Amino acid sequence: MTEQVSIAEWSRKSWVESANDPACGFPLQSLPYCVFAGEDDRARCGVGIGALLLDLQRCSRSGLFEGLPGEIQAACGSRTLNSLMACGAAAHASLRGRLMDLLDKRADAATRDAVRAALSPMKDAALLKPVDSANYTDFYASIHHATRVGRLFRPDQPLLPNYKFVPIGYHGRASSVVVSGTPVRRPRGQTRPAADGVPGFGPTRFLDYEIEVGVYISGGNTLGEPIAIGHADEHVFGISLLNDWSARDFQSWEYQPLGPFLAKSFATSVSPWVVPAAALAPFRVPPSPRPAGDPAPLPYLCYTGDQNSGAIDLSLDVFLLTSAMRAAKQAPHRLSRANLRDLYWTPAQLIAHHTSNGCNLLPGDLLATGTVSGTEDDSAGCLLERTRGGAEPILLPNGESRTALEDGDEVILRGSCRREGFPQISLGECRGTVLPAV
Ligand code: CA
Repeated sequence: MTEQVSIAEWSRKSWVESANDPACGFPLQSLPYCVFAGEDDRARCGVGIGALLLDLQRCSRSGLFEGLPGEIQAACGSRTLNSLMACGAAAHASLRGRLMDLLDKRADAATRDAVRAALSPMKDAALLKPVDSANYTDFYASIHHATRVGRLFRPDQPLLPNYKFVPIGYHGRASSVVVSGTPVRRPRGQTRPAADGVPGFGPTRFLDYEIEVGVYISGGNTLGEPIAIGHADEHVFGISLLNDWSARDFQSWEYQPLGPFLAKSFATSVSPWVVPAAALAPFRVPPSPRPAGDPAPLPYLCYTGDQNSGAIDLSLDVFLLTSAMRAAKQAPHRLSRANLRDLYWTPAQLIAHHTSNGCNLLPGDLLATGTVSGTEDDSAGCLLERTRGGAEPILLPNGESRTALEDGDEVILRGSCRREGFPQISLGECRGTVLPAV
């Protein structure tokens, strides 16, 4: 994510007219990657441009990527983005540069004809899970989330003493990461014992969402060799939306002493689009200043470049659509809005910390930020916070209320970067509907 912002690059327009609408979110400068079902139903790598989808395999086969590194041409023919993520930063830049040239308004008629044959409407496409991540790690990088949740369980000491030194995280479950649109089955599990001392077992009664941002790793590191924070950004391929579904009643019973387990591992939803790091360059900002008196990060988590522009100005919204709202054709109701820039730890710090003991990250590994919350109540990124542990139900416009998700509820995450003078960059949507327990 070290790209400089070039005004010339950011004022380029595309001959795909829908990409030039400032509100579209998929301009020439974004070109988010995805995987979709092709005409033959086989998974294909693609790129979003305006209201259209570009088939990378088709581009490669028709010679449009001639002269690019062989590894990147081969990667464009695979069924996930993993091979692309395994290529080096120079290869990524060469593909991005070629795609921008092919779709640029200045492209000649012959080029446009060749590219047009690989374009199809985005709205008709079946978007698939973009990456098979071998590993998924979930962090806890929002101090506002950590404080609000901590206050529920430890009013006297909401933040544990390690929080301001250690980017807290746990190893999540990669096998249950699903793409947006996949229904989420209400899980069964153990809950805290009642008076008889015997735990209950059954469907969760406190199903929750957590709005997070997923960071996909490119390259990776050799086992035993940490990634220095000054090089961490080079290992960020791109980002997406992520919903860390959580069963709070299971979590509060099982989490001590080793942390989350079955309360989290039943499903994690990701958006189908992976927005490349280069598309985020104009939206890089300094991290929110640490409160006065907070310790400076230890040297291995400190880097001038990261302190100057390690955060991302990315607005994140959560919407809820209940069965009743859907039946009445009502619009989803926004539950919260927060900004990624308010995290206590930057993506580079998460990567540097994760590998500081020599742990190896693999191409395609997924690192999630943790629930993104701000300081205000309406910026709280999960129901646990929004309802203060279930004590204060949220009233919906149609008269329904919620302290936890009910069967049929659909959670919709959206995210976008906006800045005066630049086209909007959308992360798309991450959706999931709750199915009844088996
Ligand atoms: Ca989480």
